[in-house]
Amino acid sequence: MPILPPPADPFAITVPVLIAGGGACGLTAALAARGAGAEVLILEKDAIPRGTTSMSQGTMCAAGTQAQKDAGIEDSPEQFFEDVMAKVEGKSDPDFVRVVTREAAPTIDWLSADHGIPFAVDTSWKGLGHSVQRLHAPPEKTGEDLLGRLLQAVERVGADLLTDANLTDLYADDSGRVLGVRIARPDGSHEDIGCGALILATCGFANNPDMIAEFIPDMAGAHVFTWENSLGDGIRWGMDLDGAVADMSSFQGYGALAHPQELLFNYNYVIDGGVQVNRNGERFSDEMADVSGQGVKVMRQPDHIAYMIYDETLHNRYKHLHETRQALEIGAVKNAETIADLASALDIPAGALQQTLTDIADSKGGKHEDAWGRDFTGTHDLAPPYYGIRVTGAIYHTQGGLDVDANAQVKRIGGGVLPNLFAGGGAARGISGPTCSGYIPASGICMAMTLGRLAGQAAARLTS
Ligand SMILES: Cc1cc2nc3c(=O)[nH]c(=O)nc-3n(C[C@H](O)[C@H](O)[C@H](O)COP(=O)(O)OP(=O)(O)OC[C@H]3O[C@@H](n4cnc5c(N)ncnc54)[C@H](O)[C@@H]3O)c2cc1C
Repeated sequence: MPILPPPADPFAITVPVLIAGGGACGLTAALAARGAGAEVLILEKDAIPRGTTSMSQGTMCAAGTQAQKDAGIEDSPEQFFEDVMAKVEGKSDPDFVRVVTREAAPTIDWLSADHGIPFAVDTSWKGLGHSVQRLHAPPEKTGEDLLGRLLQAVERVGADLLTDANLTDLYADDSGRVLGVRIARPDGSHEDIGCGALILATCGFANNPDMIAEFIPDMAGAHVFTWENSLGDGIRWGMDLDGAVADMSSFQGYGALAHPQELLFNYNYVIDGGVQVNRNGERFSDEMADVSGQGVKVMRQPDHIAYMIYDETLHNRYKHLHETRQALEIGAVKNAETIADLASALDIPAGALQQTLTDIADSKGGKHEDAWGRDFTGTHDLAPPYYGIRVTGAIYHTQGGLDVDANAQVKRIGGGVLPNLFAGGGAARGISGPTCSGYIPASGICMAMTLGRLAGQAAARLTS
């Protein structure tokens, strides 16, 4: 995927704002650029835009939104900033975190008010780094739904979307200005399109084993659950143009992927008092310390397997969730009247599982501290009948990428910015710092839509 020199002939078509990738970032960028009056073309590799966004639960964190006010939740960008910096133990760029934590709420409010996307606060998600409830999602709480609503909005505002358009090369001059792109079509033909500005919204590199080995060597060969086109294309183009990158070792892990069904399972059960045990029936962590790092802890258990244990009260509380409904339909969830029978259904030692649940009850009753330091205050006391599901851990998406300024414009190595290149979502660096443990829930979509909006506005200004 080379950077090509300026073509000999002018481009047959030139678009002011060209966007690579039709996920949450690219679509939001298109809405923002159209809103600022620019003509826009989105290029999407797949026949139907889906991307990592469609795999997600469609939730985005933001602080100080109208939806939070309506729900009576007091929050502010400052509090959000403090929470993020605490989660990353100070190891993220504070200026960049300030931009994202300040701009996330206006992004949600604008998408709701101007584009009819009905975000509400998901009050079932609390903790795990957020000091108040600030996860927002459309009613169905699925990425499919969020993406569908963004696509409808893009169509309404008249932004063009070209699918089956695999962006393979960029044309740029010696100053690093992107002049246009080359796309490959499914029939093997190629087309060239000129641009005034290019927004890279091609997500991260979770599905590129060579890049994982290079930038996150500890996770080389680890299980990955992500969109197939997350190959790092945009990041590599940016790097080839001398764009700076940051936090390339960062990623979001998750330790509740139903196994072997490969189905995301809801963490709500853990948040409300459920636990994770390994094949020996023993807990191995404070499950609430770090939802992303928990993925790595699960991967390190015997056979890379864990079991989420909860009960009927929690089952009834969350059985309506899309992912749980899917898991129930395919029989991934087991249940039993007794711990012994649940252990038998899950094929783990009954005595050890019984001891694990007794230890939790004892620590909740004040007999001793929890062995893993988890604070169970306010959580539900597990009681029969019991439920369980076998899960594994996986890398969901990478969090490092092109370093961008407050306009989501790509910074140049050594200072300044590239003349007309922007990046957002998984193609840009995140707010998670350098490790997987810095990931604060729902910041993937936050990075996609917040930086998408900033990039779209700035690219439109640049080309007007
Ligand atoms: C299972 C799962 C659950 C998740 N849940 C959440 C959640 O609830 N909340 C949250 O905040 N984050 C979540 N995340 C992370 C979140 O989904 C991503 O951070 C976010 O969707 C990234 O958006 P994006 O627009 O950058 O990328 P994408 O949605 O992946 O879009 C990128 C698009 O670019 C296209 N593309 C790639 N290369 C090219 C090319 N060369 N030419 C043309 N097109 C190209 C792709 O086909 C794709 O459509 C989850 C991730 C996973 C895997």
